[in-house]
Amino acid sequence: MPNNQKTRCGTIAIIGRPNVGKSTLLNKILGEKLSITSAKPQTTRQQILGIKTEENTQWIYIDTPGLHQQTQRRLNREMVREAINALVNVDVIGFVIEAGRWNSEDQAILQRLKQQEHPVILIINKVDKIKDKTRLLPFLEECNEKMPFLALIPVSAQKGYNITALEEAIAKQLPSAEFSYPSDQFTNCNQRFLAAEFIREKLMRSLYKELPFWLTVIIEKFEEGEKLIKISAVILTERPGQKAIIIGKKGELLKKVGTQARFDMEQCFGKKVFLNLWVKVKAGWSEEPSL
Ligand code: GDP
Ligand code: MG
Repeated sequence: MPNNQKTRCGTIAIIGRPNVGKSTLLNKILGEKLSITSAKPQTTRQQILGIKTEENTQWIYIDTPGLHQQTQRRLNREMVREAINALVNVDVIGFVIEAGRWNSEDQAILQRLKQQEHPVILIINKVDKIKDKTRLLPFLEECNEKMPFLALIPVSAQKGYNITALEEAIAKQLPSAEFSYPSDQFTNCNQRFLAAEFIREKLMRSLYKELPFWLTVIIEKFEEGEKLIKISAVILTERPGQKAIIIGKKGELLKKVGTQARFDMEQCFGKKVFLNLWVKVKAGWSEEPSL
């Protein structure tokens, strides 16, 4: 984290009807650094999709339950209402639409966005599909009338056009705050990603029945030596009660998860692994060693 500079950190919800290119956009922004957050699919909690840290800015992209996963089915009003009501702690909403195409589903989302307080950036995706560029300006003007958007940003998620401008526009809306996550949390390092996946998988397997809640695994340290990899991972949860379940009686559950995950890692990485697992409650970031 930079020392003398003020940092910005905040959350962004990317919403939009199915097929406008939300996933493509997030992939473009986050690259391989996609998050490994998991939850049971029916959860209405917000989930982190990915974190990006650059210099003094940390963008935390969150999922919009009910909208993001929806790919095939059309959105109905109820779904839209619930999804947008679920957006409580966001700093900015990115509303993705398709250039030149405004339909009733976009309209339903717009109606809901008008009824809430968070600032909205309109992301007009797939501009590459508009061959006649003179059509774009009138469309932008039309969109601009719909509600007071903070900004209208034409992009092509697929071609990577104007993505940096979009990220900068979002960054401007993020509050001055310390980073919530280590700045190297999502590196391109595949092993790191896998390490978190192994832990998550073992957790899900052990906790399946008790786990209607949100959790995420963060690899805080990944130090590869010649013969040994030292890994520190944090399991983030929301409440002390959930933390207690994850740890288990006398720490047994967490120990079992750790042993199983370590076994998989050693198999996969071909080296000895020293695994340090912690459980933290996200709310207060209370920090207690658990194993
Ligand atoms: P989502 O349902 O909103 O997550 O949409 P997806 O990211 O799955 O994209 C839906 C379709 O639109 C896919 O076939 C993408 O390849 C395509 N797509 C996404 N972004 C662009 C873009 O900028 N230009 C073009 N031409 N196609 C895009
Ligand atoms: Mg998608």
